[in-house]
Amino acid sequence: MCVPAGSSASERTAAKGEPAVFLDRDGVLTRAVMVDGKPYPAKSLEEAVLLPGVEAACRALREAGLPLICVTNQPDISRGTLSSHAVARINSWLLETLGLTDIRTCPHDDRDDCECRKPRPGLLCAAAADHGLNLSASVMVGDRWRDMMAAHNAGCIGVFIDYGYDEPQPAHVHYRFPSLRAAIPTILRLTAHRSVRHS
Ligand SMILES: [Mg+2]
Ligand SMILES: [Zn+2]
Repeated sequence: MCVPAGSSASERTAAKGEPAVFLDRDGVLTRAVMVDGKPYPAKSLEEAVLLPGVEAACRALREAGLPLICVTNQPDISRGTLSSHAVARINSWLLETLGLTDIRTCPHDDRDDCECRKPRPGLLCAAAADHGLNLSASVMVGDRWRDMMAAHNAGCIGVFIDYGYDEPQPAHVHYRFPSLRAAIPTILRLTAHRSVRHS
C-alpha cells in the first residue's frame, strides 16, 4: 500500500481523489517483441507498434474522464543494453498518440533495489500523489506478474492481459482478458460507480 508521508490514519483509509487507469506499456499499449516465449520491449521508436484497438480503447477511457497513466519497467536501461533516450522517444510518441495523462518509467534492475520497479508500487504511488488519484478505485492493466503484484501492492484492481507467456503467472488477478480492447467495457464499469465526481 502507498502511505503518504505525514498523513493520519483516517486520511490514509479515506477514499480520496479520482479513479485512474494505470497501463503497462509493452504488451498492453505496444507490441512486445517475443524471444523464447518471453516479451521484450521495442529497442527504438522505429520498432514500436501499437497493438490493435489501443487507440480506440484509450479514447474511450479518456472520454469517460479517466486519467491514463502509463507505468513501465525498463530494466534494459540499467543493464546498459537500451538508452534512456530511446525509451524517452517511445514514451513521448505514446503520450501524444494516445493522449496519456502521464508516463512513469523505472529505469532500474532488481540489483538497484529501487522503490519504483514493479512489483513494488512506487510508480503508482508517486503518480497518485502527483495527480490526486484514488488508488483503491483505480485499475492497473498489465501482461505480466509484476504488473499484477504492483496493482495488489498499490491497492488497485488488477486487470491481466493474458497472452500465455512461458513465465511465472500472476498470483493476484481480479479480471483476465485477451487484449486491452476486450477489457474496456469492464474497466468503464469498474471505474464508473467508484468515481468521486462533483458537479
Ligand atoms: Mg508488459
Ligand atoms: Zn526503479
